[in-house]
Amino acid sequence: MEVILAETAGFCMGVDMALRRLDKLVAAPGGRPIHIIGPIIHNPQVLARYAEQGVVTAERPDDVPDGAYAVIRAHGITRQVEADLRARDVIIKDATCPRVKKAQLLIDRYTVDGEVLLLYGEADHPEVRGLVSYAGNGHHVFGSEEELNDLSLVPGVRYILAAQTTQDRTLFESMARRLEQDPDLDVTVLHTICDATKLRQSETSELADRVDFMVVVGGLNSGNTRRLAQVAVERGTPCSHVETAADLDTEALNHYSRIGVTAGASTPRVLIDQVLDVLESL
Ligand code: SF4
Repeated sequence: MEVILAETAGFCMGVDMALRRLDKLVAAPGGRPIHIIGPIIHNPQVLARYAEQGVVTAERPDDVPDGAYAVIRAHGITRQVEADLRARDVIIKDATCPRVKKAQLLIDRYTVDGEVLLLYGEADHPEVRGLVSYAGNGHHVFGSEEELNDLSLVPGVRYILAAQTTQDRTLFESMARRLEQDPDLDVTVLHTICDATKLRQSETSELADRVDFMVVVGGLNSGNTRRLAQVAVERGTPCSHVETAADLDTEALNHYSRIGVTAGASTPRVLIDQVLDVLESL
């Protein structure tokens, strides 16, 4: 069996930076408890390792006790939550990905004159909640072209169109073109999609065409990992999304001669290597 690993498999820059920051803090906490506002990444194995080291994942910002470190994860937080934390006796360690931060600041800057934000993304995703909090004059979140069509956009209102950093660039650009070309609408487009996502998706698509089967490694609750599995399936290649090597159906995999492996932006290298070891042993 031949096993081909995607070059872009695994941590993206934002996740890597956030985890390095957290590792540094764990190594020298200075006697303060460390609380993360929400899971640092969508990977249960990494979260379990940090929990063993005493890192607490706070469900709500109010759960961070006074005197503690409050770590902001790569997705960022809402403007209001950040203001509340700054008003309290906690030490903020901001690990918001620079690209998410840039998207927040662009939305802030482009909505100061009454513009309404149209955001392409998952309404209940923490990054999206953070992004829309920077639009002071209202917003609409839509997750598909159909949902965009259902919005009653009003001529005369100035709109800003942006996207969650991990959304599909091709779809976004086609919706953006349509809105920009509508003579009744005033829409300015902000380009906030991160290339890390696009590169992973396009490499997955190319790899899926060259193999008989794809294995996508990463948290089942990780949106960007799930999308990689979707991309492979859309290419017509059978695919299995696994969290760890233990989830591999080795018997079924034995029927394939060429297997492609990729991993979401929140998947640690050690989990990818364990999957490769099992596949290479078949
Ligand atoms: S996918 Fe891009 S925007 Fe999101 S955390 Fe990674 S580098 Fe940052």
